[in-house]
Amino acid sequence: MSCSKMFSCIRKVLPVLGIVFLFVLLCPLNAKAAQIAGFDPVYYLIHNPDVAAVYGWDAQGALSHYLTYGMAEGRRGCAAEDEIKDDALSGFTVILDAGHGGRDPGCVRNGVYEKNVNLSIVLKLKTILESCGATVLLTRSDDSFVSLEYRYTFENLNPEAVFVSVHCNALSGNTNISGMSAYCHAANNSDSALFASCVYENALYATGATGRGLKTMSDLKVVYYSYIPSVLIETGYLSSSEEFPLLTSPEYQDLIAAGIARGIINYQSISSSIPTM
Ligand SMILES: [Zn+2]
Repeated sequence: MSCSKMFSCIRKVLPVLGIVFLFVLLCPLNAKAAQIAGFDPVYYLIHNPDVAAVYGWDAQGALSHYLTYGMAEGRRGCAAEDEIKDDALSGFTVILDAGHGGRDPGCVRNGVYEKNVNLSIVLKLKTILESCGATVLLTRSDDSFVSLEYRYTFENLNPEAVFVSVHCNALSGNTNISGMSAYCHAANNSDSALFASCVYENALYATGATGRGLKTMSDLKVVYYSYIPSVLIETGYLSSSEEFPLLTSPEYQDLIAAGIARGIINYQSISSSIPTM
């Protein structure tokens, strides 16, 4: 190739290289700017209880955490980033415990047995978790009686797993009390409070239910005798005139299951991003 040909060739290629260079330079900045523009501090704090515990409900603190750590840790900054990946829980084991069963119906309202609502939610949750790659173990998969001793022994025989017990509440003579509550025993496992908080906050967020609180030093046996991250969630009140039709509807049970699943994924992504000492 002659010098003049080479020169004209370079002259043709240079603008193209310049555009490619600018594109490469600006793309990550644009992506970053878009993520910051779409950042939702309320969403971020609800889905990252460990951040809320340190920063409180502070939008600037949430944004600064997101920029400094959250993005690198793969935490989501807004609902638009919310879609669940197929492999979000691959290698992760979850024990699901449908409360009561068999001769123990749990609470009963209008001919509806708590044990059946619990199992229905658990089976929906199992489907979602398995679709994200989790291994799911059940303490019961049908209407059989399972003792509390069996349930917590089952937990402790699977030390790599996390545990979710699903229940409904009821209050005699009161149809006005409603809402969700959750229980864990933080003293047995350093991750239990974080795990319980992820599950509880995400279930609340998904359903819009009233939050009645997370009790972190519960003596309920399935969490008190558990040495793995574990939570018992009371998904609502069958005795509530407002919540009874919700808890017995497949659509609302879907929302509860989706919220709990999101909480488990949320916990998994947070705990895998925290370096172990
Ligand atoms: Zn119960």
